[in-house]
Amino acid sequence: MKKSSVGAALRRRLGERFVDGEVVRRALALDASRIPPAAVPLGVVRPRDARDVAAAVRICADHGTAIFPRGGASGLTGGSLVSRPGVVMDFAPLNRILRLSPEDRTVSVQAGVLTGRLHEALERLGFLYPPDPASAAFCTVGGNLSENAGGLRALKYGTTRDYLLAATVVTADGEILRLGSDAHKSVAGYDLLRLLVGSEGTLAIFVDATLRFLPAPKAVATLSAVFADEQAALEAALGLLKEGLLPRALEFVDGVCAGAVGAASGPFLIVEFDGHPAEVRAAAAEARSTLKKRDAVRVSLARAPARREALWEARRRVSTALLKISPTKAAEDVCVPLSQLPALYRALRRIGRACGVETCAYGHVGDGNLHVNLLPRPRRRTDGAVARLMKAALELRGTITGEHGVGVSKKRYLPLETGAAVLSLMRRVKRLFDPRGVLNPGKIF
Ligand SMILES: Cc1cc2nc3c(=O)[nH]c(=O)nc-3n(C[C@H](O)[C@H](O)[C@H](O)COP(=O)(O)OP(=O)(O)OC[C@H]3O[C@@H](n4cnc5c(N)ncnc54)[C@H](O)[C@@H]3O)c2cc1C
Repeated sequence: MKKSSVGAALRRRLGERFVDGEVVRRALALDASRIPPAAVPLGVVRPRDARDVAAAVRICADHGTAIFPRGGASGLTGGSLVSRPGVVMDFAPLNRILRLSPEDRTVSVQAGVLTGRLHEALERLGFLYPPDPASAAFCTVGGNLSENAGGLRALKYGTTRDYLLAATVVTADGEILRLGSDAHKSVAGYDLLRLLVGSEGTLAIFVDATLRFLPAPKAVATLSAVFADEQAALEAALGLLKEGLLPRALEFVDGVCAGAVGAASGPFLIVEFDGHPAEVRAAAAEARSTLKKRDAVRVSLARAPARREALWEARRRVSTALLKISPTKAAEDVCVPLSQLPALYRALRRIGRACGVETCAYGHVGDGNLHVNLLPRPRRRTDGAVARLMKAALELRGTITGEHGVGVSKKRYLPLETGAAVLSLMRRVKRLFDPRGVLNPGKIF
């Protein structure tokens, strides 16, 4: 059947919830990765409920037309981009918090709810939803589930996967399934729900999710520590963990990134504790003394929200500041065992020198996750440097991506990490869930 007949069939079933105007199609061809899209969508489905999602998937599947789920489009590996002519499924209209139960400590949300809005709704009631990607203001729960988003608090609280109890999903043949239960634990059969988490929209589509949450901590304290060089900062970060401290966030910003935000006179760490006030006071005091012993040039401590936010402010601006310096920068998120962080940073510097590319890094060092940026000089490509970086992370027993996913941009490196046998098993899982290859094709593999 012709592609144009897909549009007609979607229009017949969905009415105005299917749009194919030029402006919308072009706007939804892009995402935060800045990867040039392979195609412009044929049209955009804006579902109202699970039945709309299922109907659209069935129509597209019958026409052999690909479907590209899209949340906030904040993904950094091109996961929501249209890789061949197909239809975008835009979750913006599915943005309601459906049910919030303090007794059960669970909240049910539609997939298009912004993560930051979920944070606010729970914080108002004295609760905490821990997954905290730095993009929370503009990314969605559906996107977080599909990427298993981590973020600033993952060190203490884990990632999105750890808070998902149940979900309504639509499969590649348009079936609506409820996976999981509202109970906080379940081992009933294969854990299909968690197989879908991090599957980047390639196995099924999330329509809504039931998530668990925690009581909000009674106190929070934030430290910022400036160092003379990066190795000292990374060793100090590891030193805090070796002493048995468990901050909720342990972030690193190297000298180049610090310069880009004009914030500090060198590389710095942000360390944040939460919990009972007495515990937080003791942990912050111990951390301050450890950081000083480990050669911090200056340590600041803040407890009041406004003063804490002031310490975070520079860290939050790094990504956008680097983009201004180098709009064509490559942004990677390799992750290694904690002990290997200093070696990874040294390797990064070596690679930069060898390839003639300026390098810098920041990120969630408490998880071993460095957001490495390669800032190319005019007319220089970064591919060679990226390949070497991936190889270095794998040699250090790490991974090519800690939280941003494979998407389009890391496809070529995935076989290096998994090997042929594991990759072949992954492909067979994909075929089992999506035999016609209509769900977000061209991603991961
Ligand atoms: C400034 C900035 C900071 C960031 N910080 C972090 C961070 O700290 N931690 C982190 O983990 N990531 C971070 N990210 C990356 C990004 O925000 C996350 O990957 C996020 O989870 C993407 O959510 P989204 O709603 O924007 O999804 P999109 O970008 O729209 O889509 C991402 C993937 O999810 C799929 N998808 C979206 N919705 C659905 C659905 N309902 N069902 C099935 N598949 C779906 C898409 O097809 C795509 O493959 C950051 C990005 C930026 C720009």
